[in-house]
Amino acid sequence: MDAHFVKSVFALKDLPNDRIPEIAVAGKSNVGKSSLLNKILNKRSLAKTSQTPGKTRCLNFFHVTPEKRGPFHFVDLPGYGFAKVSQTMRDEWGKLIDAYLALNDRPSGVIALFDARREPTDVDMDWIAWLGEWGRPYLVVLTKCDKLSKNEQAQSIKRWTLDELKVHKPILSSAQEGIGVDKIWQWIDEVRAGRKKAA
Ligand code: GDP
Repeated sequence: MDAHFVKSVFALKDLPNDRIPEIAVAGKSNVGKSSLLNKILNKRSLAKTSQTPGKTRCLNFFHVTPEKRGPFHFVDLPGYGFAKVSQTMRDEWGKLIDAYLALNDRPSGVIALFDARREPTDVDMDWIAWLGEWGRPYLVVLTKCDKLSKNEQAQSIKRWTLDELKVHKPILSSAQEGIGVDKIWQWIDEVRAGRKKAA
């Protein structure tokens, strides 16, 4: 598998021209996004690229060529969706991501990461509700599940299923133990094949 950082995009006019599928990934800082992306891509420190200064307020594109599958882009949306009620959403960066997600044909789906130990906040629920209305597939991934007992993991799934928001069943992940990686690949394959429907 090949995976490499392509570019940071600060304006829609700078989006990559190669029209390959795009899977966006969103999560609060420290949720374990870099660790999980590195695990999915089998790399040691690829995703940290997007945390270097100047690369936290933009869309970060990674080009991925998995074995036996066609290429696609992972698009890191740093911190997006977690400041909806704050000033941040009204700044240029929030507008850029809104505009990107509103484009007709990109991205194909969104992976939203939350720490499995946390309770959903109002802001998290707003963001998940928004994803539901968005009309394209999304996946809620609950990270660092190795820190929970089996019983706590089951409770975490339950509290993030949020029936009233019609959330697709969330999945548990652990970058440390490689949990959830196969399911995330399966979801990506289904999205890319157009088999995964929106909520
Ligand atoms: P990011 O800011 O979302 O990119 O988060 P990082 O991937 O840098 O991880 C933040 C912290 O959580 C680091 O100290 C990681 O070692 C730790 N971490 C990340 N994933 C896991 C995991 O699956 N299990 C455990 N126990 N710790 C994790």
